[in-house]
Amino acid sequence: MDNVQSVTLVGEGLSDPALPKMAGADGVVAASAVDRSDVLLSLVVPFYNEEETISHFFEQVVPELESIPGTRFEIVCVNDGSRDDTLRLLILFANKDERVRVIDLTRNFGKEAALSAAIDEAEGDIIIPFDADLQDPPYMIKQLVAKWREGYDVVVAKRSDRLSDSPSKAWSALLFYRLHNAVSDLKIPENVGDFRLITREVAEALKRLPETRRFMKGLFAWVGYATAEVEYAREPRIAGETKFSPWKLWNFALEGFTSFSTLPLRIWTYVGIVVALFALARAAFLVIRTLLYGVDVPGYASLATAVLLLGGIQLIGIGVLGEYIGRIYLESKRRPVYLIKRRYGSK
Ligand code: UDP
Ligand code: MG
Repeated sequence: MDNVQSVTLVGEGLSDPALPKMAGADGVVAASAVDRSDVLLSLVVPFYNEEETISHFFEQVVPELESIPGTRFEIVCVNDGSRDDTLRLLILFANKDERVRVIDLTRNFGKEAALSAAIDEAEGDIIIPFDADLQDPPYMIKQLVAKWREGYDVVVAKRSDRLSDSPSKAWSALLFYRLHNAVSDLKIPENVGDFRLITREVAEALKRLPETRRFMKGLFAWVGYATAEVEYAREPRIAGETKFSPWKLWNFALEGFTSFSTLPLRIWTYVGIVVALFALARAAFLVIRTLLYGVDVPGYASLATAVLLLGGIQLIGIGVLGEYIGRIYLESKRRPVYLIKRRYGSK
């Protein structure tokens, strides 16, 4: 039911934000059952060793949330196994403000798992994943909500540039999106992170996806729904440093590829066919040449090169198999995505 409505909304775009629940020209009633004028907004935030950013975070985010008309809010903070003072500071804020809740995980499960936990715990009608380091500017929250009121299910915040990234990160991100979208049926929008607004319905859809290895950007794209975009400039981190080393980012990219495409697996069939055809052609050539000119002994260098090259290609193929088999193995254990140690703050 909602799909039909959503498609209509994307096609036309409701022009009057004050009339989100009115029937459209074709008599279709606008998107979800949520009352868009009095809603609970859940800001969901993973924290990992963010003691330096926490006070800035609440200082800037709380007034911003209070200023959004027609919404109440809760801030769901997930402590992703921080080893610094993060948990204590979060509890301090939760004790002062009943709109703040803290979910303490048993260890560091990684951002994707922490974000899943936060979305699972959120009770809002609309949910906005947000970074603790204020790289997503707080004033954008209001714009996401305003866009949502025009009648969408998802509003993604798209970065207008990557100036706040190092050139190598910007370059590798571009490469990832281009390559991923070239080989995968599922297209992940470029320069869109986890910062977005989703409705409860979309969150429930996400919860139905059973995989325990969660590449959120891909899962968000996979569930679909009527999606709008707003542009923003991503800020540099307010304090502390990034939790993602180049090695972590590389593995994150591999996770993205293997989660949504089997082309890296299947391509070896074609590589094999091309190499085998080449080998057959060369064999035929050698037979003919031997018949005409007899046996000639030289050729060890080319032989060694061919053996090494093929050995390398085979090892790459086996490595790719390993990537997938490793993931099948881990996925097959059906372990939970995260474990909660304790919840703090009112509920
Ligand atoms: N984060 C987390 N668990 C991790 C790594 C990061 O919860 O294992 C959180 C981190 O505290 C921050 C968000 O994920 O709120 C984004 O992390 P970061 O700013 O380091 O990533 P970047 O912006 O550099 O990609
Ligand atoms: Mg950051």
